[in-house]
Amino acid sequence: MSRKILLEHAHVAGIQGYEIYRKMGGYRSVEKALKSLTPEEVVDEVKRSGLRGRGGAGFPTGMKWSFLAKPEGVPRYLLCNADESEPGTFKDRYLMEKIPHLLVEGMITSSYALGVQTAYIYIRGEYKWIVKILEKAIAEAYLHGWLGRKILGTDFSLDLYVAPGGGAYICGEETALIESLEGKRGNPRIKPPFPAVKGLWQSPTVVNNVETLAAVPVIVNEGGDAYAAVGVGRSTGTKLISACGNLNKPGVYEIEMGLPVEEFIFSDEYCGGIPGGKRFKACVPGGSSVPILPADLMLKNAKGEDRVMTYESLSDGGFLTGTMLGSGGFIVFDEDQCIVRNTYTYARFYHHESCGQCSPCREGTGWMEKVLHRIEHGHGHDHDLDLLVDISKKIEGNTICPLGDAAAWPVAAAIRHFREEFEWHVRHPQEAQARNYGLGRLEIYYGAVGV
Ligand code: SF4
Repeated sequence: MSRKILLEHAHVAGIQGYEIYRKMGGYRSVEKALKSLTPEEVVDEVKRSGLRGRGGAGFPTGMKWSFLAKPEGVPRYLLCNADESEPGTFKDRYLMEKIPHLLVEGMITSSYALGVQTAYIYIRGEYKWIVKILEKAIAEAYLHGWLGRKILGTDFSLDLYVAPGGGAYICGEETALIESLEGKRGNPRIKPPFPAVKGLWQSPTVVNNVETLAAVPVIVNEGGDAYAAVGVGRSTGTKLISACGNLNKPGVYEIEMGLPVEEFIFSDEYCGGIPGGKRFKACVPGGSSVPILPADLMLKNAKGEDRVMTYESLSDGGFLTGTMLGSGGFIVFDEDQCIVRNTYTYARFYHHESCGQCSPCREGTGWMEKVLHRIEHGHGHDHDLDLLVDISKKIEGNTICPLGDAAAWPVAAAIRHFREEFEWHVRHPQEAQARNYGLGRLEIYYGAVGV
């Protein structure tokens, strides 16, 4: 089920530059939208496409756009969320690096649809080299009249800027992103009001992920119905998946929604199976914040049906036996990997990245790290597992932003599915440490990149 929409031209030599991108049909969606469609018609196409936000939440993009308030005389903003900081997720990096003009084109067409005259790409601070790539693409777009005043001789004008963040994971949350862009500390805001009503500088604002905006040109060019015909049910189109961990071929893949998980992991067309023929032990399919599943539940749901790569199939069974597609950061663990160590690593990350505004997250992430540290280092107690579950329950749903849930879910799911492994760590501390000492490093953040 190999289907390339976004990455169709990713391997064309010189596609990073304007000339080749244009030769391959680039900027057609801007021409079509500005010359033959009203902004409302573009929004309708996006609604018909069924496109859902690719940053993790999966909210319908067209519906999000239609929430944008349009008061007279007040500017509106489009922000591209390129603050890709979730462990295991590196698909936006690949897209921006390889085809920067696709994102620029998507932002122009989307800005036209939304009545926006100023747009920003808020990018993860560590992606320094991509800032340069994007700035070059934007300069080329200005030079050729796709940005600036009266684009293509119409009344539509747009300025587009790149804004690097300071390296905080929480700035991937849309209101924290807005605070950061305004020059303040990236603390999430209490909602409502939502950004569609009061966002950047208190003006109506839409925040969309890189991959979401990059899908807009093809939707405008081919039509929303054509896009909706790809994929399965409410999971339409394709999805970029960044695959890493214990895989023969880690990398970034574009898959059609509905691809069986087993085919994605084991077929040579995609990840090529587990190195050394080792046993597939577990998987985190949507970036570090989604629940981990043991291999059997990852391949088939609790009813024995094949699990496929869609929002619905991966979450089938809720959090008892399911997980989430999330951002598409797909991390695979072989039989040698230690779930306790992995859970501890995530807990450290979320504690470090908590902005500290709300007590359940600030204190709870710290306690989870502390308890997991003592289990991992041979000082765990029998009651520690129930304590961790209790802390995670007290965090979940009780915080300003989703980071609290993101910290709680992985811990609760790891204990739910791998309780025996945690208990073994508590009861055999020396053996557990000796075993872990010999483990190789699990490469989570960046696999070799291939398509
Ligand atoms: Fe900050 Fe955590 Fe509260 Fe989010 S949940 S606002 S990161 S303290």
